[in-house]
Amino acid sequence: MELECAVQKYAWGVRGFASSVAQLAKAMQPELEVTDDQPFAELWMGTHPSGPSIIKGSGEALLDYIKRQPGVLGFPVIEKFGEHLPFLFKVLSVNQALSIQAHPTKSHAEELHSARPDVYKDPNHKPEMTIALTPFQALCGFRPGQEIARHIRELPELKEVVGEEAATNFTENPGEETLKKCFSNMMQASPETISSALTQLLERFSKMDSGEGSELLRELFVRLHEKYPGDVGCFSIYLLNYLTLQPGEAMYLGPNVIHAYLLGDCIECMACSDNVVRAGLTPKYQDVTTLIEMLDYSMGPAEARKFEGFKMDNYTILYNPPVPDFAVDMIEVPTGVEQYTLRPVESASILLVVEGGAGVAEASPSAPGDAPSPPSTLQRGSVLFLAAGQSLTLRPHSDSQLLAFRALCVL
Ligand SMILES: [Zn+2]
Repeated sequence: MELECAVQKYAWGVRGFASSVAQLAKAMQPELEVTDDQPFAELWMGTHPSGPSIIKGSGEALLDYIKRQPGVLGFPVIEKFGEHLPFLFKVLSVNQALSIQAHPTKSHAEELHSARPDVYKDPNHKPEMTIALTPFQALCGFRPGQEIARHIRELPELKEVVGEEAATNFTENPGEETLKKCFSNMMQASPETISSALTQLLERFSKMDSGEGSELLRELFVRLHEKYPGDVGCFSIYLLNYLTLQPGEAMYLGPNVIHAYLLGDCIECMACSDNVVRAGLTPKYQDVTTLIEMLDYSMGPAEARKFEGFKMDNYTILYNPPVPDFAVDMIEVPTGVEQYTLRPVESASILLVVEGGAGVAEASPSAPGDAPSPPSTLQRGSVLFLAAGQSLTLRPHSDSQLLAFRALCVL
């Protein structure tokens, strides 16, 4: 069944047709108006009430169809998660940094939700998987100890916000406890301390020649400060890994891993939850004490934050995180391949075509009930819902490679 999916126009999104979200959504819904002054931040594929997908042809919400035909989810999914789709699949186009955040474990989410249901609206965990569509910049996890120590030594402004004693303790003995003290001092520094340190560092950078200061992340610091003046999050880049994923590279954000998306377009898949603990680079509600206590303070290189996929066959790489809620197939079929069959899986799945197109030779078995039949052709922006056990045989068009992503569960 083909889906029509919701677009979220958050202010941090890329504007107009430069946004992958706008390009894909326009291809999916030709009547969608795309103007250069509007941000197109996210495309949502799934049943989340804030942006539910609709079945093309029947106009029924995917959520309602699944309620009527829960069997399409697959028995192992129903047994594990009940009668609902356990993941939300997205495309993101990020034009400015999103908040520094982490997501709780399942049991911590239950605690947070029962104590403060107004802030933590559901009791579920929210692991996330990110696969780059364009070079994609992010902050993720704490840097190796030597790098943090070097930044503390070379940046008196940073030393000021983490505090003299904590800074010395860390540089002499870089470990998780000394790092936690530095991070919590920084996040809880007074607004006066933060603002004076930010001003000093900006002044120092402004006196440098162009091209200087790259080892001190000058360009990134200035860029963040332009959008979030006075925000302590600008200093977080000296403690956190700064990495760029190349198209097709992935990152898995398990519980308690600190991260922030900075720039670029990506595919994202996550468990169904809205539980985000934020601190820094955001005007939204910040829960600094919860974040400080929950974080994983292990340190390591940026490269180690990349998540390796598993080659299923010549054309499909499976990114399978250590949670049952979701996994993502990246399907890349070069030109000249006449036919390719997407394997049947034991869960429902959602397929998004990002590049190229294909004829649909066969979908078997057909979806149960009164579901509309699949379209005869898939193109850039096509989104298909596949019932558990359904396979799909494609005849890729010869003019371009076929690039598609498929969210599923591996149980
Ligand atoms: Zn996140």
